[in-house]
Amino acid sequence: ARQTSPKSYAFFSTEMTLRASERLRLETALRHAVDRGEFVLFYQPKVEADTGRVEGAEALIRWMHPEWGIVPPDRFIPALEEGDLIHPVGEWVLREACAACVRIHAHGHADMRIAVNISPKQFLERDVVTLVRDTLDETGLPPAFLELEITEALLVQDVERVAGILAQLKKLGVTLAVDDFGTGYSSLRYLAEFPLDTLKIDRAFIVDVEHDRKSAAITTMVQSMAHTMGLHVVAEGVENDAQIDFLRNLGCVTVQGYYYSRPLPEDQFLRWLDAHPA
Ligand code: C2E
Ligand code: CA
Ligand code: CA
Ligand code: CA
Repeated sequence: ARQTSPKSYAFFSTEMTLRASERLRLETALRHAVDRGEFVLFYQPKVEADTGRVEGAEALIRWMHPEWGIVPPDRFIPALEEGDLIHPVGEWVLREACAACVRIHAHGHADMRIAVNISPKQFLERDVVTLVRDTLDETGLPPAFLELEITEALLVQDVERVAGILAQLKKLGVTLAVDDFGTGYSSLRYLAEFPLDTLKIDRAFIVDVEHDRKSAAITTMVQSMAHTMGLHVVAEGVENDAQIDFLRNLGCVTVQGYYYSRPLPEDQFLRWLDAHPA
């Protein structure tokens, strides 16, 4: 039997250990957070390992709670997904990320792309195609600058329906990345059936890629398979020189991780970009 992924582990370790009273308090606080607009987006750069060129950023949500301070997404996304709150919050994330990308362009970084995490529920319970089209129209972001990060879990749901939705999104001109690749249980066969652009190798493989032969083998295999299939590869959670060296040797890989920058608020991210000319 395979082990639970880091993400589902985080889900259990936070959500399942919450007592009923705590859970209720969290839900109430989240409803207030939506009403009061307590969410912000942080941005983490994606950098080409061989050239150092910054190709884009991933938008990552944070909850600025008036008393608790900055709450990381693993602590509240599962609770949002349990109810319907993931929809208003997910729509806000998409709109804010697209608007921020337009601002980043205006600031002089005209080729920066933005990646947004989309929860499976947003695909399965709402018309995500209309949402994305309307959001691009409203913000004025050209579609080619938007990448949607989806999870492997989505790819095993209702394969034909999901493939149809992804095809419509592709038609809009956005690109599609599979997040946390290798931690889920999607069949490799599915990869050929979905119109994907990018595979993001999960941090779990990168963290010990320089010590552990199996992680190195998986990373090398994913890169080589992606290359053959014409897919782009992003390695996430890159923190040190040894990992960077390993990935550079693999060739044409984009990296994301603390090695280059932690996720930053928009103003700090812009300053970081200014200091890292492509
Ligand atoms: P993810 O999509 O896999 O995002 C990458 C996570 O790894 C981020 O955590 C990021 O801060 C962290 N990270 C990046 N580089 C490094 C590194 O070098 N070392 C280490 N130790 N960690 C690194 P974060 O921001 O806490 O997000 C956690 C998860 O929450 C995300 O995982 C994503 O699944 C979810 N999430 C975040 N924002 C959104 C959102 O707007 N919508 C949805 N649906 N999910 C989101
Ligand atoms: Ca992601
Ligand atoms: Ca990821
Ligand atoms: Ca991850």
